[in-house]
Amino acid sequence: MTESKSSLNFLEQIIEEDLRIGKHDGRIATRFPPEPNGYLHIGHAKSICLNYGLAQKYNGTFTLRFDDTNPSKEEIEYVESIIEDVQWLTGDDFTGRVQFAADYFEQMYLWAEELILKGKAYVCDQTLEEMRAHRGTPDKPMIPSAGRDFSPEQNLELFRQMRAGKFDEGERTLRAKIDLASPNFNMRDPVMYRILKMPHHRTGDKWCIYPMYDWAHGLEDAIEKITHSICTLEFEHHRPLYDWFLDQIDEFSESGAYRPRQYEFARLNLTYTVMSKRKLLELVKNALVSGWNDPRMPTICGYRRRGYTPEAIRAFCKEIGVARMNSTIDVVKLENAIRDDLNKRALRRMGVLRPVKLVIDNYPDGQTEQLEAVNNPENESDGTRLVPFSKVLYIEQDDFMEDAPKKYFRLTPGREVRLRYAYYVTCTGCVKDAAGNVTEVHCTYDPATRGGQSTDGRRVQGTIHWVSAEHAVTAEVRLYDRLFTKENPDDPQDPTDYKDYLNPDSLEVIADAKLEPSLADATIAERYQFERIGYFCVDSVDSSSEKLVFNRTASLRDSWAKIEKKG
Ligand code: ATP
Ligand code: MG
Repeated sequence: MTESKSSLNFLEQIIEEDLRIGKHDGRIATRFPPEPNGYLHIGHAKSICLNYGLAQKYNGTFTLRFDDTNPSKEEIEYVESIIEDVQWLTGDDFTGRVQFAADYFEQMYLWAEELILKGKAYVCDQTLEEMRAHRGTPDKPMIPSAGRDFSPEQNLELFRQMRAGKFDEGERTLRAKIDLASPNFNMRDPVMYRILKMPHHRTGDKWCIYPMYDWAHGLEDAIEKITHSICTLEFEHHRPLYDWFLDQIDEFSESGAYRPRQYEFARLNLTYTVMSKRKLLELVKNALVSGWNDPRMPTICGYRRRGYTPEAIRAFCKEIGVARMNSTIDVVKLENAIRDDLNKRALRRMGVLRPVKLVIDNYPDGQTEQLEAVNNPENESDGTRLVPFSKVLYIEQDDFMEDAPKKYFRLTPGREVRLRYAYYVTCTGCVKDAAGNVTEVHCTYDPATRGGQSTDGRRVQGTIHWVSAEHAVTAEVRLYDRLFTKENPDDPQDPTDYKDYLNPDSLEVIADAKLEPSLADATIAERYQFERIGYFCVDSVDSSSEKLVFNRTASLRDSWAKIEKKG
């Protein structure tokens, strides 16, 4: 079966055409090139899924390569986290296959000398501020610096001195000699090397000059024989520069030599989310979240800790597709992707978040029975388990109401409801403390309804969950909500700082939730649905056998949709 052209995204169409005409010898090679200056976010996930997915689909290769050209912001911690995240998201093992731009520094340096000798690059003595002041306007060219007219030999000597550490930071740069009047400012003699007297996580103290991103990036792709260099739209106007650099280097300019081609797509933006590494770092540094892996963060490690699965994130990326038009995706799409996935895989369990005791007055004192409960109605092979039942249970406080309206189908005096998997019970009243708070709800049960089925055809409209008080395990449960209250918290038109839109209710900690005893053995790998409440996972950082901690991954339904409709 062949796919129709229209069902292919624009990149697939390009690739299929390239394959048809035999470009790149029928080879497809993509890459994901993160700079290790922060943790990966959901926007990066889009890029990873896209590049990895294309390589898979077309029997190509995919490279994880660090664009580690700027030691001032880069750290080994970020390198390690990025590898972990890419492995988790793709399910692939990159051991021994990770590339680093730093490993190409010597080769890049030699090519820079090649450009100098061809009169295509020169050493400039302007500071970055001067350069900025001299850059001109669309119809006024840049003011040249002296080095532009030096001989290649002079410039080569100066460049070697730069490398040897003869100059201080900011004193000299190497610049490409292109076009001072170009309407594309990226072509106005861009900087290729700057002096940074700083050790690098891979090359140590070997270098005190480091290549600029624009010089290095296209070379990295060419060295690795990437065929389709896929990046976000903001790099569109850098493409002529990448091509210009390759044109100057014999190895790539010669006819028939291998050349990568860059394609740009629209980056992912999500509502109620900020997605720039700089801002995410700021949240971490200011302790506005507990770390990069705070489950409210839009980072891959944050989603992982929150209980998201790689399958859900991949399904989301597939659903949103890829295009060249910038847009913002409703975060509900991501939340629904995880709901869909967890609905299929989560084990159903009972847990009471805000407990109040329910006493069954006619149930024998001291008796316990084991009732059968289904683990996952979506997957029969998950089987059943036994849940202990006894005279005193916990139920949710809001499953009882003393003076309830007619349509309240939970416990209220005189009303009969089903206890999930257990019995029909009829509420008889409650006990209150001096302040008027309900401390105990009372009921009677019908022994003939064991398993939650009546034998006389009698029906009830409400089913509530419960946990046997003496068997319950106590756990901390963390309920998360969106980190921001505003749909576009970092709107450039809005003078208010995005941090002022942080949601003060984005985390609610419930210290003493009561859970069914099987959850004492809950594992980090497993996913759970607390019936009627939401999807939960064990917190991978803070949970222990002494103190269980669960994170709410998602509520069962989108509660914001209701609120927004009302408002
Ligand atoms: P940010 O702009 O969020 O600070 P970045 O673009 O500086 O991130 P890089 O490490 O350079 O981060 O990104 C690696 C790759 O991920 C690049 O190819 C980039 O185009 C892509 N990428 C970054 N952000 C997004 C996004 N929001 N949507 C899709 N792809 C993205
Ligand atoms: Mg960027």
